[in-house]
Amino acid sequence: MGRVYNFSAGPAVLPLEVLETAAMQMADYKNTGMSVMEMSHRGKVYMEIIEEAEALLRELMDIPANYRILFLQGGASSQFAMIPLNLLTSSRRADYVNTGLWSKRAIAECKKYGEVNVVASSADKFDYIPELDASKFDKDADYFHITTNNTIYGTKISYLPDTGAVPIVTDMSSSILSEIVDVNRYGVIYAGAQKNIGPSGLTIVIIRDDMIKEPAQSTPTMLSYKVHAENGSMYNTPATYSVYIAMLVFRWLKSLGGVSQIEKINKEKASMLYDFLDDSTLFAPNIKAPHRSIMNVTFVLPSEELNVKFIKEAEKSGLVSLKGHRTAGGMRASIYNAMPVEGVSTLIEFMKKFETENK
Ligand code: PMP
Repeated sequence: MGRVYNFSAGPAVLPLEVLETAAMQMADYKNTGMSVMEMSHRGKVYMEIIEEAEALLRELMDIPANYRILFLQGGASSQFAMIPLNLLTSSRRADYVNTGLWSKRAIAECKKYGEVNVVASSADKFDYIPELDASKFDKDADYFHITTNNTIYGTKISYLPDTGAVPIVTDMSSSILSEIVDVNRYGVIYAGAQKNIGPSGLTIVIIRDDMIKEPAQSTPTMLSYKVHAENGSMYNTPATYSVYIAMLVFRWLKSLGGVSQIEKINKEKASMLYDFLDDSTLFAPNIKAPHRSIMNVTFVLPSEELNVKFIKEAEKSGLVSLKGHRTAGGMRASIYNAMPVEGVSTLIEFMKKFETENK
């Protein structure tokens, strides 16, 4: 069996070139006689890998010098705790926008350590982005938290509110590197790697220098940004192999023309799919413009029976992992950076055929 078109929400498709390079270098990395996953994280060979990963990410996202890049573990879910533990240092209050399950988890975690104000919410259905009304924001909040792209529902926050002096912290797990963002607008950007970056096990944190403070006293050492920043992400053993794959993915993205180029491709892929859904007499998109994600496209058929039939038949045609999140149902096509345009056009052709056969 050859490669399939994998629409998984994460862990997700990786560029074939990256997998092939990793396969070639698997047992003997650059004449070291060992695999990257077998070598010391403090050795010269590995240091070059992690330093290149950092330099490439800085270049790709145009990350200013006053931001640190941390290569951590524990997934975005650990950030839900690290953010309040490290950043609730003054008023001990934070503003949160609730746009889905991951926002809810972030909110629940923050409540353990301080006061949360949910300043906007789409909790009735999570199928839109609520209005972000600055008059409702707390001017003394320690930070303002959003989830940029809501993986489960297929919504995306596409404008940033004016939060004044309050730093914006965002969970960018499912949209990092998919389009240009102005890093200067954020205090902290965090993301689990397993969508646009590489394998799970690696969590990227991009944090402005002034946000790295002494955390709450009882904070576990491993949850302190200060400790990780002071130790160059080497306080303990980082997720060495995941960082190596991330480095290869960053090289691949750079060779394609960087984030501005992939943004064009991503927007083209998303428009192809949304245009089809908007015109279809059988399929219906879950999310209306302008709330739509360009990474996760969610849709439904008129009955659960048809949803099941579609997912099953698609799989037989090599179009896999189209089932929606267990809490959302329906279908979801995750079309991250590594999903080629042909994957999306093949999916659309299949959907057209399905539509004709099931009218
Ligand atoms: N935030 C978002 C937006 C996500 O999509 C996910 C996982 N799909 C998470 C957080 C949780 O990430 P992790 O499994 O890396 O903890």
